[in-house]
Amino acid sequence: MPIIKVTINHAFPALIDKLSRVSGVEVKDEDSLANALICEYHPHAIPQMSQVLTNVLFSDWLFATLEAQLQTEQRQLTNDELEYLILVFLHEVRSGEVTIAKRAYSEWINRSVQGLHALLNANQTIISLDGFARFRLRAFMNGLSSMMADRVGQFMIDREYEESVSMLKYMLESQPSVERELHVFCAPDRVWITDASGGLVRDSDITEIALAESGGDLNSEDLAMSILITRSPCRIVLHDMNPDAMWPSFAETLDRVFSERVQRCDHCSTCQQLEQAHHHLPVDGPHEHRFRRNH
Ligand SMILES: [Zn+2]
Repeated sequence: MPIIKVTINHAFPALIDKLSRVSGVEVKDEDSLANALICEYHPHAIPQMSQVLTNVLFSDWLFATLEAQLQTEQRQLTNDELEYLILVFLHEVRSGEVTIAKRAYSEWINRSVQGLHALLNANQTIISLDGFARFRLRAFMNGLSSMMADRVGQFMIDREYEESVSMLKYMLESQPSVERELHVFCAPDRVWITDASGGLVRDSDITEIALAESGGDLNSEDLAMSILITRSPCRIVLHDMNPDAMWPSFAETLDRVFSERVQRCDHCSTCQQLEQAHHHLPVDGPHEHRFRRNH
């Protein structure tokens, strides 16, 4: 009966476990330091061996390889976070929701089974599964790694956003809630605040501080958030004229930070007027710093 040495850099216990359960295969020797095993096999077992080796590669080995890769590249993530991200990602990959390097996941599996089958049939005396993956599954692994890197990037952005929301909530909690209503207007290019009667709310002290903190790069959203947190109104009416804003939109952040204090205006007459006027910000002229509110 033919004898073959199989090596694998990750997931060696899974390889032994799964291969020794194939009927017609007998594991003769194992070297866990070298991650190598020697087995004798009946030629009839070749189809199932190819399946099992593919299974090890696409489950245990793939998980361990991605984990090792990310542990080196993404030091800002904890092991639990990495594990979670890889599990979710591989679940999607296996359910066929994504295409990797222009091929379906099932195609990659078939190519692997066929490739290993050919190697076993050719009476190779040694198979390095890592070598096999490096050459036969190169495009698959490259595609997978770059998709995984995108997922990690998105996860970091989400985490950063959650942290900034938490920080804003924490800052808000330190301000006593004030019995007043403010209106927040979100237009595609800016955000502004008025009081209940439509007077523009500005705060030169906050603007100055925020400007200094931002290093001169201050946008109207950051400024509006600073003013709202400092004033801590018990009620905010949100006039969202930019519902298609990219995530994370100011309106969403406002909802998250002020939660039940925020109410949406339901496309009120002021919003309609503003839309007709192409979202012109009321200016601080002697008669112009107020605009009519009809509701
Ligand atoms: Zn409105």
